[in-house]
Amino acid sequence: MKVIGLLGGMSWESSLEYYRIINEIVRQRLGGLHSAKCILYSVDFEEIEKLQNEGKWDELTKIMVESAQKLEKAGAEMILICTNTMHKMADDVQNAIQIPLLHIADAAAEKVKEKNLKKVGLLGTNYTMEQDFYKGRIKEKYNIDVIIPDLDERKIVHDVIFNELCLGQVKDESREIYKKIIKNLAKNGAEGIILGCTEIPLLVNQKDFAIPIFDTTLIHSIAAVDYALSNK
Ligand code: GLU
Repeated sequence: MKVIGLLGGMSWESSLEYYRIINEIVRQRLGGLHSAKCILYSVDFEEIEKLQNEGKWDELTKIMVESAQKLEKAGAEMILICTNTMHKMADDVQNAIQIPLLHIADAAAEKVKEKNLKKVGLLGTNYTMEQDFYKGRIKEKYNIDVIIPDLDERKIVHDVIFNELCLGQVKDESREIYKKIIKNLAKNGAEGIILGCTEIPLLVNQKDFAIPIFDTTLIHSIAAVDYALSNK
C-alpha cells in the first residue's frame, strides 16, 4: 500500500472527511483492521484565507509547494491537495515534487465522463467558479461544458463556505438556498453538479437531488485509495 500525502487544513473540517473516507474505503477493500497509510500536513487556514482574499497567489503557491515538499520528504508517495481552490497552483506544485499529485478536477471529470454528461454545473468558492484553472481544465481535457450560478448566487455560495462550513456550521436555511441554486443550474442545462468545494458535501448530497451530484471530497479520496492500492 502506498503512503497517501494529504495537504490539508483548508479547512480542517473537510480534511477530517478525507481522513475518515480514505480509511473507510481501505477497510472496505482490504477488510479486517486495515487502514490507510497516510501523512497529513495541515496549514493554518486563517493565513491562507487572508492571502486568497488579498489575491496574493504567488505567496500561496510558495506555501503549497513547500508543504508538498515536506510531505514528500516525510515519505508520502502521492499528494492530494485537499481543496479545490488551491488547485489553482497544482501545476507549480507538481513541477516541484517527484511524486504524483492527484488532481481533484481530473478525478471529478473522470466521473462525469463515466456518466456521459456533456454539461455540468459547478459550485465552489468564487475563485473556483470564476477563474479558469478549474472550468478550463475540465473543458480542455475532457470536453465537458461547465456552467456556474449567477453573480448573486455565487456570492451566497462563497459566503456560506467561508462564514459557515469552514467554521463547522451546517445550517438548514443554507441547505435550502443551495438546493434552489442547484435547481437553477439544472434549469440552465446542467445535467449534473460538481460540488467543487470540499466542505459543500457537509451541506448537501446526492439524496437531495434527482440529477447526479459529484462530491469532490469523496471522489478525490477514492482516487487516492485506488492509486495507493494499485501496482502503478
Ligand atoms: N475547501 C474549499 C475548496 O475546496 C475552500 C477552501 C479554500 O479556499 O481553499 O475549495
